[in-house]
Amino acid sequence: MKTVHHWIDGKAVEGTSGRFGEVTDPATGAATTRVAFASAEEVDAAVAAARAAFATWGSSSLAARTAVLFRYRALLDAHRDELARLITAEHGKVHADALGEVARGLEIVELACGITTQLKGELSTEVSSRVDVAAIRQPLGVVVGITPFNFPAMVPMWMFPLAVACGNTFVLKPSEKDPSPAVRLAELAAEAGLPQGVLNVVNGDRTAVDRLLEHPDVAAVSFVGSTPVARHIHTTASAHGKRVQALGGAKNHMLVLPDADLDAAADAAVSAAYGSAGERCMAISAVVAVGDTGDELVARIRERAERVRIGPGDDPASEMGPLITRAHRDKVASYVRGAAAQGAEVVLDGTGFTVAGYENGHWIGLSLLDKVPPGADAYRDEIFGPVLCVLRAATYEEGVALINASPWGNGSAVFTRDGGAARRFQLEVQTGMVGVNVPIPVPVGYHSFGGWKDSLFGDHHIYGRDGVRFYTRGKVVTTRWPEAPVSATGAAPDGGV
Ligand code: NAD
Repeated sequence: MKTVHHWIDGKAVEGTSGRFGEVTDPATGAATTRVAFASAEEVDAAVAAARAAFATWGSSSLAARTAVLFRYRALLDAHRDELARLITAEHGKVHADALGEVARGLEIVELACGITTQLKGELSTEVSSRVDVAAIRQPLGVVVGITPFNFPAMVPMWMFPLAVACGNTFVLKPSEKDPSPAVRLAELAAEAGLPQGVLNVVNGDRTAVDRLLEHPDVAAVSFVGSTPVARHIHTTASAHGKRVQALGGAKNHMLVLPDADLDAAADAAVSAAYGSAGERCMAISAVVAVGDTGDELVARIRERAERVRIGPGDDPASEMGPLITRAHRDKVASYVRGAAAQGAEVVLDGTGFTVAGYENGHWIGLSLLDKVPPGADAYRDEIFGPVLCVLRAATYEEGVALINASPWGNGSAVFTRDGGAARRFQLEVQTGMVGVNVPIPVPVGYHSFGGWKDSLFGDHHIYGRDGVRFYTRGKVVTTRWPEAPVSATGAAPDGGV
C-alpha cells in the first residue's frame, strides 16, 4: 500500500505521529493508500519552515517570483494527464472532469504569473507642497490553506499560487480523503524552482487544523469546505487574530421561467446536477420551475438523466463516477429513500445501483425528485450527491422568494429568453455568483469566486482581485523631500536618456 507523507521545507517528510488515515479507490472500494496524520509538533515544523522561508521570499523581486511561476505553469501543463489520473484514483470523478479541474486550477497559476500588474501601487503626487503619497501592498507572512475532498487539485490551486506570488509562504492541509494531488503539486512547484519552505503540505485531520488555527506564526487562513466547519474555522482563527476567508457549502438553484428554451434548460440541469456525481459546491441541486413548465421540464430532465453512463472514472465511456466514500453514498441514499414520506414524487431512484465487476465501489445512480416540499430534508440539506430536487413556483416572485429564503447563497442561475427578467433576477437574487442561461457560473480566474450568507464567512472572496487583497495588506507612505537646488542636480552624463 502506498503511503502519502508530508512535504515540508522542500522535501518529503515521513509522518511520526503514528496516526494514519485510509484512502480508498471509490470505484473498487479497496483501500489503496494510507496518509500520515500530522501531530501538533509536525504542524509546528511546517510553520517554522514557512516562517524561515518568508525572510527571503517575502522580499524577493517580482521578477524572481514570476520566473518560478511561469516555469510552474509549463510543468503543470505537461503533467495535466498525470494529475488528472491521481485525482480520479482517489476522488473517483471521470477523467474528463479531472482534466477540467486541473485546467481551472491552472487559470489561477496563470493569474499569478501576472502578479506584477496586480501589485502595482497607487501614487498621488504633490498632495501638498513637495508631498507625495504612495499606497503599496505587502505580503502577510505565513498563510494557511485547508481544502475539501471534492476538488483535490483545483481548490489548493485557488489559494497557494496567488498567495506565494504576493510574497507569502504557505502551509496547505489538504483533504485526508484524497491527499495525493496536493503533494504532487508541491513536488512540481519545487521542480519549477520554488525555494524550499515556501510551499509546505501537512496531511491530517482536525488535530492538524486546530494547531494551524491557533499557531502564533500563522497570519491568515483560507478555508474551503462544509458550512459547519467553515463557521468553526472562521470563529476560531478570528479569535486567534488571523485574517480568515472560509467558504462553505451550498444549495444552488436554477430558476426556469416559462419562456426558457426547455431543451437547453434540461441539458444544463442534467450536467450541473449530476456532473462529478453532484459533488460540486456549484452543483445545481434545486430546479425551480415557474408557471406551467414543471411537467415538461421534468420529463426532459428524466429522459436525459436516464442516458447518463455511470462507471469507473478511468473508463473513457463513463460520464459519472462513484461517490467519495461508502458512508457518504449511504447518506445520499437515505435522502432519496426518505423523500416520498416527506411529500416528494420520486421520478428516478438511483439507490441500489451498482456496476458489474465493481460491486464494492461507492455507486449510486441518478435520482430526480419532483414537487419537493421546501420543508423536506432533501431540499433543506446539502446532499452533495447526484440528487436533483424540482420545486414548483406559480410566479417569478414566488421562485425568487424561495431561493432567497435558503440559508446558503453560493450560486444561482436563471433560464429565460427575457432580458428584463434576467436583469431583475441578477439584481434581486441573494447569491454571490449568478448565471444567466449558464448553470454553473464559476467565475474565471481574474474575477473572484465566493458566495453570500452561509456559503462564505469573511470579507473576501477567493482568487481574482479579492484574492490579491486577501493575501496582502495595505501601507500608505507619505513623503516629503526638500527641493533639490538646481545646481546640485547637474546634467545627466547620458543626456538624460
Ligand atoms: P469538510 O468541511 O468535511 O472538510 C474540509 C476540510 O476541513 C478538510 O481538509 C478536513 O480535513 C477539514 N475538517 C473536517 N472537519 C473538521 C473539523 N471538525 N475541524 C477542523 N477541520 C476539519 O468538507 P468536505 O466534505 O471535504 O468537502 C465538501 C464540502 O465542501 C461541501 O459542503 C461543499 O459544498 C464544500 N465546498 C465548498 C466550496 C466553495 O467554494 N464554497 C468549494 C468546494 C467544496
